[in-house]
Amino acid sequence: MIKLLVAGTVAYDSIETPFGKAENVLGGSALHFTNAASFFTDVGIVATVGADFNLEDIAFLKERNVDMAGLEVDSQGKTFRWEGKYNYDLNQAITLKTELNVIENFKPKVPPQFRDADFLFLANIDPELQAHVISQVKSPTAIVLDTMNFWIESKFDRLMDVIEKVHMLIINEAELREITKEHNLVKGARKLIDRGPSCIVVKRGEYGVFMMSEEELFLAPAFPLEDVFDPTGAGDTFAGGFMGYLANVGDASFETLKQAIVMGTVMASFNVEEFSINRIKKLSYNEIKERYSAFKGVMQFGECTL
Ligand code: AMP
Repeated sequence: MIKLLVAGTVAYDSIETPFGKAENVLGGSALHFTNAASFFTDVGIVATVGADFNLEDIAFLKERNVDMAGLEVDSQGKTFRWEGKYNYDLNQAITLKTELNVIENFKPKVPPQFRDADFLFLANIDPELQAHVISQVKSPTAIVLDTMNFWIESKFDRLMDVIEKVHMLIINEAELREITKEHNLVKGARKLIDRGPSCIVVKRGEYGVFMMSEEELFLAPAFPLEDVFDPTGAGDTFAGGFMGYLANVGDASFETLKQAIVMGTVMASFNVEEFSINRIKKLSYNEIKERYSAFKGVMQFGECTL
């Protein structure tokens, strides 16, 4: 039985940043997520790719106990493709082209061995597909959802229906503002909590993460790096570290959520050091542990002596 299930996109991305260009490289919300989460727990993936996708490129995930039984190959179609660029503000991805391809006719089927998963991550994909996945899982401890402007603008009502069914949201600052029409983060998070979820995690790029539940708040900075190369997938990698850690510990108390936020931040900091999934693919546990400890040092301070 797998502990953590993810549904989302497996993609070919073409990316341009001020530091270089990469064409038709591996990407997608579910792939970046799984690449990070599989360091901490067994992951099952539900996604679809086209006949043009080279499965050999992701075979390394099997060595990390990723179950691909839910990865459907649509022999009639082409893999989802995203083309984007960043200017010097690396917090802002500019979408140049989105080709839905195989996800346009995708009806995600959750294999029977995934239906008891304790943790479910609905990565960025069509909210109708996210709802369809929820209807197939039994009773997870935590259902967590991500989305982006593409779906907020094209399927707002369907997205709001799904938000009412989940325990937590992991979205970025601009998405929070676009969904809630609130500029203030605390007010925006409160509006979403009033719709159902008990906890809202807001990604703020290089400014870190803001987490709010009904009664508690937690803030973490981003890990300060000298060189950021490509931010694509940082959000999904954050979510992978966050949820992988939760599934590993097996609970979603606020104390565990705080550690999971730091683990997500650590994993995202590695992801941005190279294009595509390359940095996390070759990462080691020691590197993860060392950076987690360094991060703890950065965040500690003593009691006020006044
Ligand atoms: P992020 O973690 O937010 O940087 O997500 C980057 C990944 O999202 C890329 O690898 C893209 O393939 C994927 N992506 C881009 N647009 C969409 C979309 N509309 N739906 C689902 N996934 C997307």
